[in-house]
Parts: sequence; C-alpha cells; structure tokens
Amino acid sequence: MALMINDACTACDACEPVCPNEAISEGEPIYTIDPFKCTECVGADDEPQCVLVCPAECIVQNPDFEESEDELQAKYDAMN
Ligand code: SF4
Ligand code: SF4
Repeated sequence: MALMINDACTACDACEPVCPNEAISEGEPIYTIDPFKCTECVGADDEPQCVLVCPAECIVQNPDFEESEDELQAKYDAMN
C-alpha cells in the first residue's frame, strides 16, 4: 500500500529529502506522494521514513493502492 499526505500537511519539507524513492514532491498547497513510486520504504528501510520525520502526522495509507509486501518489493526492484 502506498502512503498519501492529507490536508493536515503544513508543507514543512521534512519528508521530501528522506524518501529513498524520490516519491514526494512539493505541491499546492500541500506535499504529495506519487503512489507509483512509494513502496512504504520496502526495499530501502525498515519503516516509512517520511512518517518518522513528519511533525504533523499527516501521512496515511492510500486506500486506492493496496499492495502486498511482495508487490511493494517488486515495485522497488523495478525502480532500482
Ligand atoms: Fe517515500 Fe518511504 Fe514515504 Fe513512501 S513511505 S513516500 S517510499 S519515504
Ligand atoms: Fe507535510 Fe509532513 Fe511532509 Fe511536512 S513532513 S511537508 S507536514 S507531509
């Protein structure tokens, strides 16, 4: 399952540099996660790095992108 950023985002920019997949970008007015690039950090880290650094707790599951661990790993492998 990819993650997504909800309206509580304060556009602080803490998350964008820590994403191993360059899936996060600055948007108007809030930051966005490309669900085709987000692997929940599977393949790169033990847990979602953006969630760890986000002070607004606004990064949540994207219900439109349900994926298993294996699918997330395959997505990561395809990008690397
Ligand atoms: Fe990037 Fe990982 Fe956050 Fe997905 S969970 S947006 S891959 S930092
Ligand atoms: Fe928004 Fe959280 Fe990213 Fe800051 S760290 S830009 S509040 S999603």
